[in-house]
Amino acid sequence: MLSNLATRDVETLIHPYTQLAAFRETGPLILERGEGVWVYDTEGKPYLEGMAGLWCTSLGYSNRELAEAAYEQMLKLPFQHLFSGRSHDPAIELAEKLKEIAPVPVSKVFFTSSGSEANDSQVKLVWYYNNARGRPQKKKIIARLKGYHGVTVASASLTGLPANHTDFDLPIANILHTSCPHHYRFAHEGESEEEFSTRLAAELEEQILREGPDTVAAFIAEPVMGAGGAVVPPAGYFPKIQAVLDRYDVLMIADEVICGFGRLGEMFGSTALDIRPDSISAAKAITSAYAPLGAVMLNEDMYQAMLDESRKIGVFGHGFTYSGHPVSCAVAIKTLEIYQREDIVGKVRARAPHFQNRVTALEQHPLIGESRGMGLIAGMEIVADKATKRQYDPKKGVAAKTVTFAQEEGLIVRSLAGDRIALCPPLIITEEEIDALFDRLERALDKTLDWVT
Ligand code: PLP
Repeated sequence: MLSNLATRDVETLIHPYTQLAAFRETGPLILERGEGVWVYDTEGKPYLEGMAGLWCTSLGYSNRELAEAAYEQMLKLPFQHLFSGRSHDPAIELAEKLKEIAPVPVSKVFFTSSGSEANDSQVKLVWYYNNARGRPQKKKIIARLKGYHGVTVASASLTGLPANHTDFDLPIANILHTSCPHHYRFAHEGESEEEFSTRLAAELEEQILREGPDTVAAFIAEPVMGAGGAVVPPAGYFPKIQAVLDRYDVLMIADEVICGFGRLGEMFGSTALDIRPDSISAAKAITSAYAPLGAVMLNEDMYQAMLDESRKIGVFGHGFTYSGHPVSCAVAIKTLEIYQREDIVGKVRARAPHFQNRVTALEQHPLIGESRGMGLIAGMEIVADKATKRQYDPKKGVAAKTVTFAQEEGLIVRSLAGDRIALCPPLIITEEEIDALFDRLERALDKTLDWVT
């Protein structure tokens, strides 16, 4: 029996990424408030937020400084756009700050309101760049199967997951996909991580040669894949990929929407995994999710090309009403200040070994085929048979069932395609809370085992 509020929800809302038909029976989990790494439902039941919302609430749920930064900016200048050369202090200061902490030299910053908008902008900027450089045929962008880059038309096309394409008539032209770097699932029998990386880089090179290097403009990748399964790349992967891109003058775009701002124990995932991006997308933890904000950080060469294009055609015809929203920028400035002042990246590094020990220990559970992560992110895969890696019938929804059992245990985690479960807690999580997270998850897996057998 659904509560009054739940019934009103079912009758009024379209929920993103929800099985709309089943949802009419189950109804929503309605959350009311949060504190630290905990969120509370309308009955007052606490849940440990094992996913930091959607990989984003890095500083947890009750940070007064962030709320005050937003409030003060709202009182001072709640809105000012950046169109036609208008500007404001928070956008300037934030762009300076991002340039300072970026993992590679960044020339300019373009703001959006989300990760999808940032990646959509990346696609347009790559096309604009090659038109400016007099290479109108160099337009194809290669993304990866199971990569996740958002849901707007171009960014959903970059995303390599069937649910984002099926019956949406995507992907659009000029977007290609290459293999997913998931060693557990896709390596050949006996193939080492290094060998697997070498093979994937060779496959990418063959793909570029097949398409014609003069038609391939860019490659986009998350350092650690998020929504595609929380997958850590195999050893040596990015340097090998990067060498191929360099040979054919293909830009590297790092999608740092999840990994940016400390998640892997470095300020950016690119540093942690040896990526040398020409352009970077960021969002989520840039404001600890207290306000919507995305950013595209471009190198000098891309900026110079935009200048050339502007001299030729005039106005740079791209931008959102909320590009550089002052309230979001003020919150981001405060977020970055807190990261620095409280050495959040150092804290992640200090907590990661304990977190990852508990991740690895999950492979002892009868249901878990692989459990692996980096920093404070991890993915685990439920299998029916560990020896053969055989999976359960997807229709059974085993990982989704684990999520439901975890909820009973007072833990929020996320199930992903392929019976995978992701963990990505707020970066402020303590050692005791890490133990609480894994104790609850283990109980949920035990219940799943009883249910499935
Ligand atoms: N890129 C990555 C790596 C993401 O994980 C996401 C969202 O989860 C996006 C892009 C899209 O961001 P948004 O949902 O803010 O549009």
